[in-house]
Amino acid sequence: MKNYVYSFGGGKADGDGTMKDVLGGKGSGLAEMSRAGVPVPPGFTISTEVCNIYFQNGNHVPPEINQQVKDALTKLEGQIGKKLGDASNPLLVSVRSGAKVSMPGMMNTILNLGLNNKTVEGLAERTGNPRFAYDSYRRFIQMFGEVALDINMEKFDHIFDARKAKAKVKLDTDLSAADLKAIIGDYLTLVEKETKKAFPQDPQEQLAMARDAVFRSWWTPKAAYYRKMEKIPDEIGTAASVQAMVFGNLGDTSATGVGFTRDPGTGEKVFYGEFLINAQGEDVVSGIRTPQPIHELEQVMPAAYAQLRTITDSLEHHYRDMQDFEFTIEDTKLYMLQTRNGKRTGAAAVRVAVDMVHEKLISKQEAVLRVQPQQLDQLLHPLFDAASLKKLTLIANGIAASPGAAVGRAAFTAEDAIELSAHGPVILVRKETTPDDIHGMDVAKGILTAVGGKSSHAAVVARGMGRPCIVGAGAIEIQERERQLTVQAGGKQLVVKQGEWISIDGTSANVFLGKADTTEPDPNSSYFGELMKWADEFRGGFGVRANADIPRDAKAARRFGAEGIGLCRTEHMFFAEDRIPHMQAMILARDEKTRRKALLKLLPMQRRDFAGLFTAMDGYPVVIRTLDPPLHEFLPKREDLMVDLARLPHAGTPMKKEMSAKYNIPVGQLKKALPELLKRVEELHEFNPMLGHRGCRLGITYPEITEMQSRAIFEAAVQVANKGIKVIPEVMIPLVGSAKELEDQKAIVERVAKEVLEKAGKKSLRYMIGTMIEIPRAALTADEIAQHAEFFSFGTNDLTQTAMGLSRDDYTKFSKEYETLKIFKADPFASIDQEGVGKLIKIAIQLGRSVKPNLEIGICGEHGGDPSSVEFCYRAGMNYVSCSPYRVPIARLAAAQAAISGDRSESMRTA
Ligand code: ADP
Ligand code: MG
Ligand code: MG
Repeated sequence: MKNYVYSFGGGKADGDGTMKDVLGGKGSGLAEMSRAGVPVPPGFTISTEVCNIYFQNGNHVPPEINQQVKDALTKLEGQIGKKLGDASNPLLVSVRSGAKVSMPGMMNTILNLGLNNKTVEGLAERTGNPRFAYDSYRRFIQMFGEVALDINMEKFDHIFDARKAKAKVKLDTDLSAADLKAIIGDYLTLVEKETKKAFPQDPQEQLAMARDAVFRSWWTPKAAYYRKMEKIPDEIGTAASVQAMVFGNLGDTSATGVGFTRDPGTGEKVFYGEFLINAQGEDVVSGIRTPQPIHELEQVMPAAYAQLRTITDSLEHHYRDMQDFEFTIEDTKLYMLQTRNGKRTGAAAVRVAVDMVHEKLISKQEAVLRVQPQQLDQLLHPLFDAASLKKLTLIANGIAASPGAAVGRAAFTAEDAIELSAHGPVILVRKETTPDDIHGMDVAKGILTAVGGKSSHAAVVARGMGRPCIVGAGAIEIQERERQLTVQAGGKQLVVKQGEWISIDGTSANVFLGKADTTEPDPNSSYFGELMKWADEFRGGFGVRANADIPRDAKAARRFGAEGIGLCRTEHMFFAEDRIPHMQAMILARDEKTRRKALLKLLPMQRRDFAGLFTAMDGYPVVIRTLDPPLHEFLPKREDLMVDLARLPHAGTPMKKEMSAKYNIPVGQLKKALPELLKRVEELHEFNPMLGHRGCRLGITYPEITEMQSRAIFEAAVQVANKGIKVIPEVMIPLVGSAKELEDQKAIVERVAKEVLEKAGKKSLRYMIGTMIEIPRAALTADEIAQHAEFFSFGTNDLTQTAMGLSRDDYTKFSKEYETLKIFKADPFASIDQEGVGKLIKIAIQLGRSVKPNLEIGICGEHGGDPSSVEFCYRAGMNYVSCSPYRVPIARLAAAQAAISGDRSESMRTA
């Protein structure tokens, strides 16, 4: 019959450190430590499989497995020379939970099992320490009552605290044996009252019940929630380890503690941890008493401390990673109770990995694999100073959309944000943002919205800007007109007015009232820089570019290590205040001549932007996309116009002035111009703008737009090249679904390029024309399209929308249910849907390269900065990924990890 139970102890173990799947992290650590001769109390681990069998079998452990448990127990009793339930010399055990991956504090553990009304007396007699015996028993009843009998913890606490008050003592340790005995009596009465049964006195029964309760703790709501958050599968189950007790609560020569071999916050190589004299394990974390810093243990118990240092050092060497450990000292003798690779912050992860390479503990490859790319986020954005946060009121929590901490005065419209920003930092607070708000977002230090999800406008734009952002903070209500928000906080209604200080944390999604202190991280700190240098070596030729629309972002991108721009969205340049009037004039134009006149005004501005981008990217390619969004996005909203048109006849001068500023129309012309504007807005109205008149469809119907943009690109290229800077323009046509569309636009770009370059005597300037692949038809006909394209760039935002028939902004309405039901593996707008959208990508790459083996292929959607998507792109054979500047280091690290651990596709090898 199969083995379900694994013994450990006395320098031996049935299992070992490689068996986390079977024994859980805790069980495998105990087995491995036993084998290495580390002092570990003996015991046995019931495998994770039994947890699953227990649930499948109607919450019962089958008899044949029970027999294995009994045999292991008999073996343990032999080893220790004590028997479970022996009234004169009882064996006591702990029953401990532990899954393959650590889920700190999420499941349950029971200590001191085996105590009952008889054995407690035996223990008191044998140890000559009745106080200790009663303390252990009351702890056991309490833990068992809570975990195995589902009795509310507070009921025990209530009894305990009442007795403490009666005895007039502050600390638990000041309670006398008699006090504890009285508490036990009350506890037993409570259990009988709550369960209608006496507290189980048979230790065998206690053991079976405790084991089952540990299995059931797999499904406590907090454990299930934690698994969801950390993407830990539900199926893996927990092991249950039964282990002989050692006692840290035996008096002043006993103690218990926890620690790390390095500082998990900074990564610094210092011994880190805390301990309590005369206590049991759970006291250290529960905050019942304030523990002492671990280095003080050296004075109190020098020998045990020295041994602890030696053992933990060797554990770190053995596991070749920072360890998080638990220990107990029973009457000056040290026992290790747990060791595992410790959780750490991003900064610590980087530092530990780099230090360990220098210590020759791990290789550079391992160091690069050790740091989770997502963790770098924490290093690249400002953080709140934890102490200063404590003084502020938490007023809301939303969805973390863009990480980092920001502090500023609340501003409720984009215009107000601009005005207020002249006097100091602002946080833009909106119900939701639209492209109209872009200039306000740009001056804001952070953005907060009441509605919207991770891929709402605010979220996407803020991430692009590297600006901290919280969206969907549903608790706040925004009264834009009153320039204030209201929120229920701490049981009362709070009003926050424009100009009041707020602090937002885009990582935890917490909103605070008041001004917190922030600390600036250093993206080029020595540890980070060194790790990234290694990452870049392993990444080889796989490129990482940035999505950047303006020179400032391009410069940031270079600082973060981007090797070019993978997407410049030209329309973002048109939203600037000095340009939108010309853009609107262009859109309102009824004929080509008027349109060309307006375009001529935009030309020099656009040229200046491109020149800035080329300069920042000296020697690296710059992909510029021609105009993409539907034109109505540049015009005022229809509803606003209708309201203002109705108000105009009765409006006084201040209101007229406001309208004039809003629409960029002189006061005197409002009466004539507003109705025209409304008419054009109505003409441009589309039923489904996402699938409407946009992308290359604009360039095809208004070729003069593509013409102007091409002229701006090549004139800028000439200008910059003349200064000795190396320019590599790549002109990208959006939303192509058929080869004909690309052919049409390509002809315009080529004609203008030829004209401009010839005139400037720069015929040798190299440039490329290519297309976005963001429509399924383009992916499926990529061989035809590749005949006209020198490069492909996957626009995976639109490709996901069109392939899945799923609008990004509307998905948030039902994404919660979809997440709960696990209909999609992950948010398809955050991580590429590899089975569906990914298949289209693979087809397109294969078809494209079948025509042009050297076709340059990249990705420029939001997914380009998502580690699992980067890995996918690498394997699919792309040449590069492109993402927002602040995610460039994340993508560099993810690409290096993919290169170290993965294979590339055939189509890449032939390229
Ligand atoms: P968690 O996963 O919540 O840390 P553990 O199973 O590690 O749960 O146990 C909780 C506490 O009890 C820890 O501090 C641990 O060191 C202590 N503990 C567990 N088993 C024993 C034992 N056999 N003897 C003494 N202390 C123990
Ligand atoms: Mg533990
Ligand atoms: Mg698109």
